[in-house]
Amino acid sequence: MIIAIDGPAASGKGTLARRIAAHFGYQCLDTGLLYRAVARDLRAAGQPLDDVKAAEWAAKSLDPSTLDDHGLRDPGVGEAASVVAKIPEVRAALLAFQRDFAAQEPGAVLDGRDIGTVVCPDADVKLFINANVEVRARRRFEELKSRGEPVTYEHVLDTIKARDARDAGRADAPMTIADDALLLDTTDLAIEAAFDAAVGLIMRKIGR
Ligand code: C5P
Repeated sequence: MIIAIDGPAASGKGTLARRIAAHFGYQCLDTGLLYRAVARDLRAAGQPLDDVKAAEWAAKSLDPSTLDDHGLRDPGVGEAASVVAKIPEVRAALLAFQRDFAAQEPGAVLDGRDIGTVVCPDADVKLFINANVEVRARRRFEELKSRGEPVTYEHVLDTIKARDARDAGRADAPMTIADDALLLDTTDLAIEAAFDAAVGLIMRKIGR
């Protein structure tokens, strides 16, 4: 069983993916961490983010055991990740790892931008999670503020809009809604209600 979850930054897809995986007893992969880790490793090697050869090397030599690094969650790393994510060689180098993960029994949940379209086009269930951009920015702002980060709402809104545009506008594997994806808008939903709605969509899709 493969559940593919895509959506823009701060849509709630990561939290939903983890909750859904725990509910069904499946493994969960936040594929954004792969791109974040490539950006981290490139920076650590002193290489520019748009150096194709260096980025491909960083993607090919990525150590999955480093994906639990807390620094990967920093907002600046998300920005950097969306720059390396435009490079087709980086995307290609990360594909096999994601597909192997998805093939695990009894099932796997993967969340990202291109899971239902490119990584797992044959996924049993595809969800596309969205929310109004101001609501996403507000959620991300509150989260960063609670971590003590010196941010303003306007700055968070601008960076989310820029990231959406970069992710949806790139040539290779742009963020887009798969034809057979089920849409879930979390604008007016708290996490519990969003989780219940997502499980309802999944159960209906798999006929349970
Ligand atoms: O989901 P997260 O914000 O951690 O992703 C960071 C960046 O990684 C995204 O903005 C996107 O550019 C890239 N990404 C991607 N494809 C995925 C997951 C993430 O291009 N499947």
